[in-house]
Amino acid sequence: MNTPADEYDWPTCIACCRPLWETEVGRQACRPCEEKTAKRLAEFPGLFEQLNTTASLMRGARKVGAATSGSRTPPIPPRLEVLSLVAAGGVATRLRDIEDSWRAVLGWTVAPWRGSPAEAVPEHTKFLINNLPWACDAYDSIGQDIDDLRRLRSECTAALTGERRPGRVNVGFCPVTDEAGDPCANQLTASAGSPHIQCGNCGTEWPDMAAWRDLSQAQEAATETEAAA
Ligand SMILES: [Zn+2]
Ligand SMILES: [Zn+2]
Repeated sequence: MNTPADEYDWPTCIACCRPLWETEVGRQACRPCEEKTAKRLAEFPGLFEQLNTTASLMRGARKVGAATSGSRTPPIPPRLEVLSLVAAGGVATRLRDIEDSWRAVLGWTVAPWRGSPAEAVPEHTKFLINNLPWACDAYDSIGQDIDDLRRLRSECTAALTGERRPGRVNVGFCPVTDEAGDPCANQLTASAGSPHIQCGNCGTEWPDMAAWRDLSQAQEAATETEAAA
């Protein structure tokens, strides 16, 4: 039996193309897409912090390398994807562009406050999470944004786990000194996906992100000592 209802094109989610439930009709994106996107958004501040720490360790490692003699300095693999995600044009800019387009549609002024990428990422994230229910309900370009956010998140996790560049990253030399005051100077490596670093020579461990920061400072201090010597 062919009734007009059979011909009617049932509305679908703009992001995943699943037919909307009756209670969802009128929405742009379905509730599962909204929930998944909210979860992805919530991960950005933490992902960015990890990327930022990794980037500063790589910069620190390069500085340490530059200060020591060529023969002792293995090349630091440039993890360009990490550096570009934390720089202008990276995570912060891409979240900001989405925020700006939502603000334009809502008729709200563009946020005047920007700050550094590290300061901006949590702010953009907060805005996007707060306004995601509106966007999934009424914003007709939300499908594109849901896609972009999913891609941005996988770029971040791929950069951190080194998916596209397997192996470990050199993060500079071990700054620990022995009883005679001689530096261990063993090349330290990290897999950016895990915050744990252990020196293969003296066994010193830096178990977490806070310890990474101490390590970075100790490496800088070691560089200054060497430069002064
Ligand atoms: Zn959907
Ligand atoms: Zn060591």
